[in-house]
Amino acid sequence: MPKFKLWNSMGILLTYKCTAACSFCYYRCSPAKEGLIKIDTAISAWQSLIKLAGSSAKIHITGGEPFIYWPHLAKILDRGLELGLGTVDVVETNASWANDKADIIEKIKFLDSHNVHKLKISYDPFHAEFVEYSKVKLLADTAAEIMGKDRVLVRWQEYMANDLNVMNMDEDAKMELFIDSIKKFPCRFNGQAVICKLVDYFATKEVEEISKFNCGNSFLSSKGIHIDPYGNVFSGTCSGIIIGNIEKEPLEEIWRKFEPSKMDVINVLFREGPTGLLENAAKLGYQKRRLYSGKCHICTDLRQFFFDKGLFGPIIGPKACYN
Ligand code: SF4
Ligand code: SF4
Repeated sequence: MPKFKLWNSMGILLTYKCTAACSFCYYRCSPAKEGLIKIDTAISAWQSLIKLAGSSAKIHITGGEPFIYWPHLAKILDRGLELGLGTVDVVETNASWANDKADIIEKIKFLDSHNVHKLKISYDPFHAEFVEYSKVKLLADTAAEIMGKDRVLVRWQEYMANDLNVMNMDEDAKMELFIDSIKKFPCRFNGQAVICKLVDYFATKEVEEISKFNCGNSFLSSKGIHIDPYGNVFSGTCSGIIIGNIEKEPLEEIWRKFEPSKMDVINVLFREGPTGLLENAAKLGYQKRRLYSGKCHICTDLRQFFFDKGLFGPIIGPKACYN
C-alpha cells in the first residue's frame, strides 16, 4: 500500500464563527459558532508544514470569517514575519466587514506588508444571501488598487458583473439560482449542504451506485489538510473527520503515523467508502435514504448519525461540524 502524499498545503481555520451561514459551508460556520485558534497553535502548524514540505509549503488562512478577529489574525501574521516563515499564500474573507474604505486600505496594506500573497473574496449566490454586493465590490476594487488585480481573487468572478440581489429574492427564485450555481460550480455535499433544502434536488443516486467508490484515493492523494480552531486536523476537505490534533502531537508526527487503513471508521472509508458503514449504522437505527447526491452526502449523513449517538468520538467531531 503506498504511503499517502506529503502534505504541502494547509488551511488554518482561524474560527468557526462567521457573519454568514452559507448553505454549502463545509464546516457549518455561522454567527452562533465559536472557537479561535491559539496563536502558538497556528504558528506551530505553519512551522510544521515548512518542515514537511520545505519551499513547497502553502498556507492559507480562512474560517469562519477571519476578519471578525482582525487583531488576532494580525498577531499571527506579525509572528510569522518575525520568525521569517515566508509567504501566506491566501487570506480568505466574505467581505462582510468591508464598510469603510479607510479601514479596508489599512488592513490590505497590513496584509501586503506581511507576506500575504493573495486575498480571496468569496462571492456566489450562497454568500450573497448574507453579504451585500456593495461590500464585496468595494473590497475587491480597493484591494486591487493596493495589491494589483492579479493578487485579488473573487470566487466566482463570474458573479461580480452585477449585484445578485439574493437578499431580496423570494424562496423559489433563490432556489433556482442556487441550483444553477451548483450545476456550474459543483460542490461536495458535505457539512451544511447535507441539511439544506437543495440536497433533495441533487440526490439522484442509489446506494448501489455510490458503493463503487471508496475513499482510498481521497486520503492517499490529498496534499492538503485543514487545521481547525481547536488544533484538529482534517484531510483535504473531509471536514468533521479528525485524523489528529496538533495541540497533542506535532503535525509532522501525525503525518508520519497516519495509517488510514488502520484507524477506526477511517479504515472503512478508506477501503470501502461510506457505504461500508451502512450496515453498522442500520443496526443502530439509521434510516437509509433512497437516494443520495454522492459519497460525501452519505458519508456526512452517516457521520451525523454516529455523532448524535456519541459514537467514534475521537474521530467523528468536533461538535462545531455537527450542530
Ligand atoms: S462558506 Fe465561508 S462565508 Fe459561508 S458560512 Fe462558511 S465560512 Fe462563512
Ligand atoms: S466520502 Fe467522506 S471520507 Fe470520502 S471524500 Fe467524502 S467526506 Fe471524505
